[in-house]
Amino acid sequence: MKEKPTSKLYQFPKKGEGAFHAYQKISSELALDGNVHLDLGSFSTTSMDPFADKLITEQLGKNFIDYNEYGQSKKIHDRIVRMLSGLLYAPEAIHPTGTSTLGSSEAIHLALLSHKWNWKKRRESFGLSTSKPNIVYSGNAHVCWDKFALYFDVEPRKIPQSSLDSYPIEEILKNIDQNTICVGTIAGNTYTGSIDHIEKLNDEIARLNKKHNWNVGIHVDAAIGGFVLPFIKKEVRPWDFRLPLVRSINLSGHKYGLVYPGIGWLIFRDNSVLPKELIFSSHYLEKPIETYALNFSKGASMILAQYFSILQQGQEGYKKTIRGYCKIADTIRKRLQQSGYFEIIDEGILPVVVFKLKDKKEVDTTSLLLSLRSKNWMLPAYFIPGIPEQETLMRVVVKENISLSFAQLFCDDLICSYETLKKD
Ligand SMILES: *Cc1c(COP(=O)(O)O)cnc(C)c1O
Repeated sequence: MKEKPTSKLYQFPKKGEGAFHAYQKISSELALDGNVHLDLGSFSTTSMDPFADKLITEQLGKNFIDYNEYGQSKKIHDRIVRMLSGLLYAPEAIHPTGTSTLGSSEAIHLALLSHKWNWKKRRESFGLSTSKPNIVYSGNAHVCWDKFALYFDVEPRKIPQSSLDSYPIEEILKNIDQNTICVGTIAGNTYTGSIDHIEKLNDEIARLNKKHNWNVGIHVDAAIGGFVLPFIKKEVRPWDFRLPLVRSINLSGHKYGLVYPGIGWLIFRDNSVLPKELIFSSHYLEKPIETYALNFSKGASMILAQYFSILQQGQEGYKKTIRGYCKIADTIRKRLQQSGYFEIIDEGILPVVVFKLKDKKEVDTTSLLLSLRSKNWMLPAYFIPGIPEQETLMRVVVKENISLSFAQLFCDDLICSYETLKKD
């Protein structure tokens, strides 16, 4: 129920009630929220090692922007940018260009803004109009792409898919023109877990660029796949800076980067992609501080937590962890398929299981979700934007809160709920 705006709860209290009561009150109110460990659809990390928690708590008061005061935090930040550039095969990883962000959304906005800037400079150098920039991406992209287009005044050419498993490459190519600032692709789709055909797109755009003397590049949204694809067992086609037209990539540290919410990364191919004019230099206290970010102040602790995860795990640890998740995801897929009630939609690459009801007349999805909710499971149900006449999809994101036995418990409850509803 919505609270009335006149409620006392909306008034800045005249008198404080002290730390103990404030804590108790808030903590018990929050017990009404869902349990994060039973949220099956969320991609963000819900728990870290106690030593990470200790580190984060100790560093909570540090404002990352104060480079002159907290120079070591900045050095650690730059080491991470360097490591991620290497992981993504940036050709000049020794001189990396990139930044931490609050999440992938900020990273995507910053990346696309620099593509817009580069497009504009190039057009101006030819004496051509810069009034109608556009950006081309598929209809199943994350909402932050639409948000970029709206906020930064770029025409969104959003290409719908005709079906769940089709990547509309032909239509994407047809929509590119001299005003395209960049083409967006997704390595790890939020709705289906799929990977776009980035290699093929790279080759086709190279052909168009050559034919028309354009300079269209690619941004890869690897919010989900960035910390997964380098570590899985399955062979995946190149999707990163190994492809010459991939100019920027974003990753969510707080998804499979194994850090709590509040950290993303933007990595550029090299420093030529980030226009110098966009690097903001502020003379705040003593020496100038150069940044490429939307916000000024932010906590340093999640950057340090990312460093913790990297040092704690190493590449071997990430491999083991991510492959472990993939195995559990396989087990869930198998059980759902064997039950005969569900159809698997995802490609089986990421540790993300996307499925739908085989027979939508037999059991109603809303009732199924409610029945699971009564056992405290939060299973999301959704549609993919832009696809006509589709059925409801459901998603289980396997990460640190889902062990094999926990996954089995969930499958038991899901199948049992289904069968009970079917009988009714
Ligand atoms: C989650 C997600 C985003 C947004 O990332 P945040 O880190 O939540 O800002 C963008 N793109 C994709 C594909 C995502 O899954």
